[in-house]
Amino acid sequence: MKTLGYAAQNPQDPLGPFTFERRSLRDNDVAMDVLYCGVCHSDLHQARNDWGFSRYPMVPGHEIVGRVTAVGPKVTRYKVGDAVAVGCMVDSCQECDQCRKGEEQLCRQGNTQTYNGVDRVTREATQGGYSKQLVVREEFVLRVPDGLDLSKAAPLLCAGITTYSPLRTWNVGPGSRVGVVGLGGLGHMAVKLAIGLGATVTVLSRSADKRSDAMELGADALLVSSDAQAMKAAANSFDLIIDTVPVKHDLKPYMPLLDIDGTLVMVGQVGPIDEISSIPLLLGRRRIAGSPIGGIAETQEMLDFCGKKNILPECEMIRMDEINQAYERMERSDVRYRFVIDLATLS
Ligand SMILES: [Zn+2]
Ligand SMILES: [Zn+2]
Repeated sequence: MKTLGYAAQNPQDPLGPFTFERRSLRDNDVAMDVLYCGVCHSDLHQARNDWGFSRYPMVPGHEIVGRVTAVGPKVTRYKVGDAVAVGCMVDSCQECDQCRKGEEQLCRQGNTQTYNGVDRVTREATQGGYSKQLVVREEFVLRVPDGLDLSKAAPLLCAGITTYSPLRTWNVGPGSRVGVVGLGGLGHMAVKLAIGLGATVTVLSRSADKRSDAMELGADALLVSSDAQAMKAAANSFDLIIDTVPVKHDLKPYMPLLDIDGTLVMVGQVGPIDEISSIPLLLGRRRIAGSPIGGIAETQEMLDFCGKKNILPECEMIRMDEINQAYERMERSDVRYRFVIDLATLS
């Protein structure tokens, strides 16, 4: 099947229209029309080869909401017309201990990324959601719960699950004290999801400018990290800090904020971190951890949770041909809080 998308042809040039083939349906495949696709920071990084493993041409996009148009003969869970979603991965070995536990994101053989990955059958490059059609095996297709606004749900598939998974891993619930560093695509979802789970949520920011934004999202407090006195007063007052900042930054100021056995989990930055003393880690039995997305079962749980609580990202809808300006604005953090492409604007 021929489909139209938007691709990066190399690290320098803007993305532009690109026609390519989607595979014909395998027995367990679901074909869908893509309705909406969120724009993740990693799309920009991968389009520009910031991480050094990009292959071109590349159609980015891994926050995908669509509608089923056809299913293979062995598909049992989806039918034509269903509202479905696809996130950051489209396949895994399905056999290792992690896959068997439903932690496909941690597959021992590596999961297959939705784009800039390699198809496990044909060894062809996978291409993402900045496109009109998508074909994905049934096991990696998610159901969008009834009532969830399809035009806003897409960012849940990366920003949502990336922040929901650590909240669940560290058992956040009523009474938990959660801090969120960085108030972008991931950070604003961390705030909404932690509140939804019943936690007390504080946004940590370098300046007080973000106070009204944090309050609008429902946070209980804003802690200004450049205010030494306020930081001292907040010592030992968090169980979990979710650090969503996408660039290298100093973690030292956050460590004393964690209570005993508290964890700072990094979900944004990919790469080396600044030197840090083990003293606060040893003395308070504190941890620094990382967390990727979640497994398929947990992603479905997150979608169902958002459906039940009507938790949705704050989105700015764009046309497909506005993607290059959107990338420029993202680099300036000029978006509240996630761009979503309306694929109806691509023809
Ligand atoms: Zn992403
Ligand atoms: Zn596996």
